[in-house]
Amino acid sequence: MKKPIVCCDFDGTITKNDNIIRIMKQFAPSEWTKLKDGVLSKEITIQEGVGQMFQLLTSDQKDAIQSFILEDTEIREGFKQFVDEVKKADIPFYVLSGGMDFFVYPILEDIVDRDNIYCNHASFGEDHIQIEWPHACDTQCQNGCGCCKPSIIRKLTHEDDFIIMIGDSVTDVEAAKHADLTFARDYLLNECQELGLVHKEYDTFIDLHAQFVQIKEVKEWQTQRANAGRS
Ligand code: MG
Ligand code: ZN
Repeated sequence: MKKPIVCCDFDGTITKNDNIIRIMKQFAPSEWTKLKDGVLSKEITIQEGVGQMFQLLTSDQKDAIQSFILEDTEIREGFKQFVDEVKKADIPFYVLSGGMDFFVYPILEDIVDRDNIYCNHASFGEDHIQIEWPHACDTQCQNGCGCCKPSIIRKLTHEDDFIIMIGDSVTDVEAAKHADLTFARDYLLNECQELGLVHKEYDTFIDLHAQFVQIKEVKEWQTQRANAGRS
């Protein structure tokens, strides 16, 4: 029987808001919107756009950004309990985030081990914030993802894993294509419907928890997957 492994997005999934957007709105000069538009219209890659956005910020803003984010980031309901349950069931749980370590780690402190978090690295050694990309695209991805979720999934998983993806947005679509089952909301939900990917809808981690408990046996998911006729 296949072994379940859970890969979970961060911004907009674990947290209710997109933290990069919030940081830029609060701290960056207005040029950042041009970069955001460039990313959305795919004129520049996420890696280029996000890297350049952070270069608009000075390194001495680090503490202010960190406290701003920690003060009012809202974590989606039921997340901690969900992680505890998954841990108890011995199911590997990974966070795959396009965010930066200096705010992702503190938000997930005491909930998810750092070893299980894949995100970008912000460095504050120069005048402006520099982003390093320890999980950039492998040779099979040319999208300039920055933090490349499909590449991480290829690295983390094996043939006999049953990959469960949890996400919300455009950066999760490629990962969802690699997953056996995707829990989706918002933009990702529409994409899963359009692409015919095997998926379930969720709103909070309480929903997810209920679905995990309810289904329990991964075997049932596999049957559902086969019935859905996934190629
Ligand atoms: Mg997201
Ligand atoms: Zn990539």
